[in-house]
Amino acid sequence: MNAPAAAPPPAVSHHAESADSVLRAQGVVRHLGLDAAEAAERLQRHGRNTLPQPPRRGPLLRFLLQFHNVLIYVLLVAGVVTALLGHLVDSGVIFGVVVINAVIGFIQEGKAERALDAIRNMLSLRAQVLRDGRRCEIDAEELVPGDIVYLASGDRVPADLRLVEVRSLRIEEAALTGESVAVDKGVAPVAADAVLGDRDCMAYSGTLVTFGQGTGVVVATGAHTEIGRISAMLSEVQEITTPLLRNMAQFGRWLTWVILAVAAAAFAFGTLVRGYSAGEMFLAAVGLAVAAIPEGLPAIMTITLAIGVQRMAGRRAIVRRLPAVETLGSVTVICSDKTGTLTRNEMTARRVIAAGRVYEVGGVGYAPHGGFALEQGEVAVDAHPLLVDVARCALLCNDAALQREGGAWKVAGDPTEGALITLARKAGLEESFEREARPRTDVIPFESEHRFMATLNHDHAGRGVVYLKGAPERVLELCSAVRGEKGDQPLDLSWWQPRMHAAAASGMRLLALAVREGEDALKTLTFADVERGGFTLLGVLGLSDPPREEAVRAVARCLEAGIQVKMITGDHVATAHAIGEQLGLAAELDAITGTQIEAMSDADLRRIVGDTEIFARASPEHKLRLVRALQARGEVVAMTGDGVNDAPALKRADVGVAMGCNGTEAAKEAAEMVLADDNFASVAAAVEEGRTVYDNLRKAIAFILPTNIGQAGILVAAILLGMTLPMTPAQILWVNMVTAVTLALALAFEAPERDIMKRPPRDPAEPLLTRFVVWRVVFVGVLLVGGGLGAFVWEVGRGASLEFARTAAVNAVMVGEAFYLFNVRSFTDSILNRDGFLGNRYVLIAIALMLACQASFTYLPALQTLFGTVGLDVAAWSRILAFGVLMLLLVEAEKALIKTLNHGPGNRGGGNNRRSAQ
Ligand code: ADP
Ligand code: MG
Repeated sequence: MNAPAAAPPPAVSHHAESADSVLRAQGVVRHLGLDAAEAAERLQRHGRNTLPQPPRRGPLLRFLLQFHNVLIYVLLVAGVVTALLGHLVDSGVIFGVVVINAVIGFIQEGKAERALDAIRNMLSLRAQVLRDGRRCEIDAEELVPGDIVYLASGDRVPADLRLVEVRSLRIEEAALTGESVAVDKGVAPVAADAVLGDRDCMAYSGTLVTFGQGTGVVVATGAHTEIGRISAMLSEVQEITTPLLRNMAQFGRWLTWVILAVAAAAFAFGTLVRGYSAGEMFLAAVGLAVAAIPEGLPAIMTITLAIGVQRMAGRRAIVRRLPAVETLGSVTVICSDKTGTLTRNEMTARRVIAAGRVYEVGGVGYAPHGGFALEQGEVAVDAHPLLVDVARCALLCNDAALQREGGAWKVAGDPTEGALITLARKAGLEESFEREARPRTDVIPFESEHRFMATLNHDHAGRGVVYLKGAPERVLELCSAVRGEKGDQPLDLSWWQPRMHAAAASGMRLLALAVREGEDALKTLTFADVERGGFTLLGVLGLSDPPREEAVRAVARCLEAGIQVKMITGDHVATAHAIGEQLGLAAELDAITGTQIEAMSDADLRRIVGDTEIFARASPEHKLRLVRALQARGEVVAMTGDGVNDAPALKRADVGVAMGCNGTEAAKEAAEMVLADDNFASVAAAVEEGRTVYDNLRKAIAFILPTNIGQAGILVAAILLGMTLPMTPAQILWVNMVTAVTLALALAFEAPERDIMKRPPRDPAEPLLTRFVVWRVVFVGVLLVGGGLGAFVWEVGRGASLEFARTAAVNAVMVGEAFYLFNVRSFTDSILNRDGFLGNRYVLIAIALMLACQASFTYLPALQTLFGTVGLDVAAWSRILAFGVLMLLLVEAEKALIKTLNHGPGNRGGGNNRRSAQ
């Protein structure tokens, strides 16, 4: 066997050799492929078909990058200056805050990156190969040189291939050549010195099949492929950021300047007006700045986002582009494919309309057991030869395979075609025998655009037949006769129409079958050959494909959440209508067909698109127009799709959603999100998680900002009033640090609020900091200032020492924050219930940690010397606790008040403005 050596073979120019000689050189038989043992051996020798990982930022660099932030720079400068002034404790605490914050950021970011990597790996590429003479699907990483690989439109080419057979194959090689116009491929060798873009007989790894089909033999894998050599795709390192996070980062920068200005003003006021010493005032100003800076916010936002993405993956929705997480939360319309997404995609042929009769087909699912019945009862297939003709056409004009896996019958390929194999078996036909007897000479595969599939088959006597199957409208217009029991007869539509309509109206998908004989001379099949007409109709099949139960529930949930659901299908209007009704869509409204869409102007379409929920006989280009029309109405659109031609609509939609199982690579790459189970319910779940992420981001802000205001406010108030500072700068820094490492982290894990899918969608233009959030931030900030100052003043008034009063003030602020952490779990709902206190175990853990920190701060001798604290007595603790409870109740009261004030429609707490009903 003379397979190429493991080293890259630059001298071999596969494109200049004939297909046969390349096959020979790769040591593979065209019609058998490699055998399992040989493939395994080659995998050993050549390694897996993967590109080397893009260079990652090293851990050190990643750690250092945590410091790259204006907020942190300010802290660092403050730390250095404080140290130069000789205040080592304060400086130590500042650096402590910075380092701990960086460590947390580093760990969280690492976790987030690993989570995203794991999710990305769920989208591994699959390849159709010939192994041991059988076509099978394997992980593209297991491809080896010599493998025979099948390509179809929408595929990403999984390795470098020398094509051996093509059928209108067109490949877009932008990934490699930068040229975005697809190239026609062939099998003839080209000149040895042809440049990459001119090597028509090659299909290169990473390029995209946009049309047709092809077969090729693998000549290079992994790093030896052309793309591996130029490392073009290696730059795909995804940043963990979204527009929202960028906005927040900008807000953070702006905030820094404000804080610095306030600190400077406080310094000036304190020294000039209140007569504090410059040294004391400088430390206070530094403490103020440090306390006010929300340095923990960026890390928390990142982890909130990553947790959201992870939870979506757990619910079978894989996010490819992070900004989609935010957009999902504001989706107002979901446009979904019907077949396979809203329905189960388990097709069963239930009815055969042929030869003046309507047969009902027995059996369940894909199991090939069941018979045919007329009204009078079960019939023997032998007595109805036309059934056999129908079955043969169904079997030969077919690319699917039926397999039995542990008792269950499974389809490889298109479920519609799988159902036809089951039907043929029920009629007593056997695939391999039929396919041997009438080998296929050529094929036009099914595409949603033309809605039919045709094959050209020749038997061993050279008799050629064209088999045609497709949507009845398409097939019937090409038929000039009908096969009857006594030979061919003219087509009488008035007999067929009502019977087809009855089947469609009961939710069945219709498929017409026809043949054209006497094609002995035809060797290739073109569209013109089919469109010439002259077919003989064999029959029409009715296939059932019931809605998924979970899709029915998900549709109801979406409607409740103020999200419209629109169903788009290539099926007949009556079928679409029936299924729409079962799904709970507004069936009383008229369905619209693709033809009607075509006749409409954009303005007309925009007018009707809001009130129409069902689009039938629609093809991918209609999807694009629908998305545009909906967006022109101000909707935020999620659109599902699976084919190559769906890519433009997926790209255009606010959230493009591709099918992970039955979708093409082209669709997945155009999409923001991929469904691991092709299920509509997963789209709804992702929307719910998207809303949760947004909520949690906002909760993190609503928690952190008030704590900053509280801490800084205590100092500002004291300076304004000219009183002794109720906390030393070092103590302020401690409060700041403990809050950041304990309490603030808990909210990223917050579960969805109960009413999350009962609210209307969020207006995408609405800022993260709505008036309501700003109010809540200020309100709570003021309460915390009150608590801290109050505790200090009370203890001083009682005659306690300054140390005692300061220790009490620090603990009051921390306890107040802990109680507020419960409040913030819901923006508007009361948390005065079991779930409110115990619902998020991270909140409890965080509070326990915080208490441990505070206990050390108060009682540990070492810390007592460092921070100037003293132990508190029970009476002081009870007062602190009382303040915490009061704080909790005041915020709850505020919620209740706001709820009553906002009771009218058009407004709702939490800043979720109801979108005006359009
Ligand atoms: P959907 O959008 O619901 O998946 P399709 O575009 O796949 O609809 O199919 C539209 C119509 O094309 C179907 O109603 C059926 O009549 C026909 N059709 C579907 N699959 C095939 C196939 N594999 N071969 C031939 N015709 C098909
Ligand atoms: Mg389909």
